[in-house]
Amino acid sequence: MSASSSAPARDRLRIAIQKSGRLADPARSLLAACGLSWRQSRDKLFCFGESLPVDLLLVRDDDIPGLIADGVCDLGVVGLNELDEQAKARRRAGLADAYQPLRGLGFGQCRLMLAVPDEWDWQGPAQLAGKRIATSYPAILAAWLQEQGVEAQVVELSGSVEIAPKLGTADLICDLVSSGATLAANQLKPVQTLLDSEAVLAGPVHALDDARAGLMAMLLRRLDGLSKVQDRKLLMFSAAEERVDALARLLPDAEPLLRLPAEGGAVRLQTMCNGALSWQRLEELERAGAQELMVLAVEKSLA
Ligand code: ATP
Ligand code: ZN
Repeated sequence: MSASSSAPARDRLRIAIQKSGRLADPARSLLAACGLSWRQSRDKLFCFGESLPVDLLLVRDDDIPGLIADGVCDLGVVGLNELDEQAKARRRAGLADAYQPLRGLGFGQCRLMLAVPDEWDWQGPAQLAGKRIATSYPAILAAWLQEQGVEAQVVELSGSVEIAPKLGTADLICDLVSSGATLAANQLKPVQTLLDSEAVLAGPVHALDDARAGLMAMLLRRLDGLSKVQDRKLLMFSAAEERVDALARLLPDAEPLLRLPAEGGAVRLQTMCNGALSWQRLEELERAGAQELMVLAVEKSLA
């Protein structure tokens, strides 16, 4: 019997999210936008799903891949950097893959980068031979060095990586960068990207075979629906018939104009636009003959 078929069937889905930190609030908001709501337990580590049988476990982000691997949680919201690091560490230890990213979630963007002291004249990876590189991502760094055919020493640190060059414990670092301000404050400059990261929904490599499978499929479909409508706006206006072609030319990035039934001479029009519709853009349309302009945000879609 396989491990999955011998495990007791479960009818509630369990999602691990970060308890506090950069990903905590956006993860909760996104899941709430998928129609989930919870009753929080007193110890605030477990949230019981009320609207659907989908519970949350609030944990440190580092623990999320392991919780999925052990089957304690079915899904997790975690940085791709963390997921990839732990996946590569498992592979190096000869363990089978136990989780995978299912969807990019569009927040928590950052880059795992090499950063060198300001005075270095960066000429490329070959320059790293024999150097000591401090990082909290030893598996990703080691795999990248191997890919580059460069032999360097990986110095694993759990925090404050950016001060290692100053302390003399490393020559350069490999760390997460978003604005670059922390690097600059430590007289370091980013020179090479190893991984473009964002928060992902991570799940098991094998499909579930009980009631949780349907819940997971529903959640993924709702997430897809949300990402499809993100930044989409419905633009509605009316115009005289002879102005319609000129107005359509002012909206090259929108879907073809849809005509709605209208009374009198004016035509009612609507179209779906991607991205922001600035005031300036609306005023331009108005000057070209659009009237009663209205922009509506799209909230949900199962298209
Ligand atoms: P925990 O207590 O859960 O272990 P942490 O200190 O490891 O928290 P955070 O600093 O909250 O975690 O970062 C969580 C994730 O946010 C990172 O793994 C990364 O995916 C993402 N992130 C986005 N921008 C940055 C950044 N500038 N520095 C660090 N992480 C970032
Ligand atoms: Zn962490």
